[in-house]
Amino acid sequence: MIFIKSASEIEAMRKAGHVLAGIVDKLRSKIVIGISTEEIDCLAQELILGENALSAFKGYRGFPKSICASINEEVVHGIPSGRRLRDGDLFKLDIGINLNGYFSDCAITVAVGSVNGRARRLVDATKKALDLGIAQARVDNHLMDISGAIQSYSESQGFSVVRDFVGHGIGRDMHEAPEIPNFGQPHTGTLLKEGMILAIEPMVNMGGWEVRLSDNGWTAVTKDNLPSAHFEHTVAVTAGGPLILTK
Ligand code: MG
Repeated sequence: MIFIKSASEIEAMRKAGHVLAGIVDKLRSKIVIGISTEEIDCLAQELILGENALSAFKGYRGFPKSICASINEEVVHGIPSGRRLRDGDLFKLDIGINLNGYFSDCAITVAVGSVNGRARRLVDATKKALDLGIAQARVDNHLMDISGAIQSYSESQGFSVVRDFVGHGIGRDMHEAPEIPNFGQPHTGTLLKEGMILAIEPMVNMGGWEVRLSDNGWTAVTKDNLPSAHFEHTVAVTAGGPLILTK
């Protein structure tokens, strides 16, 4: 069942999104050569608690940390560790919070140091794919208009979209219906209605779309070990068009 949020719930989620966007902005400036992903996690936890919020990830099905920290061929669900960022890494920060019972979820890919050529184009294309997906989050569009926009743009740039992980509805829970694949046939799927809130999150691979689970049981890695990029926003479907809450 897809929950339709009331105006007051949308307002609460707008706050959760705004707080998260501020945290992401602060973290972004710390993502530099030499920092370990555990240090980024600690900073994130401090910032989250400083806003009287809770990490949505810590403890989720036993996940041990406050953020997901995935590097290069790691697609999603990387676990922060002592590993330090190096020049040329693609670092994916995925972070969600619970503020007063409402969730927000956001991810960015940061090119660490100098990232050029195809890897840079992968990051730019994934960000653009998210923008194009968000633009379809309109009343009376179909859910797969979002999916199709993400897929067709990503593939037009020579990349592939991950099949095994999807975006999701969000609200009182981090993961609500509907699932939002990053591939699909436009003009199909659920009709979008005012008050739906969607976490739209393209995961785009430089090579093939297939992923495997790494030995830690959490982290998804590309099968061909080529890099992957990920961006995510929490978006409300409103009468006035898509409203990005995590901006
Ligand atoms: Mg998400």
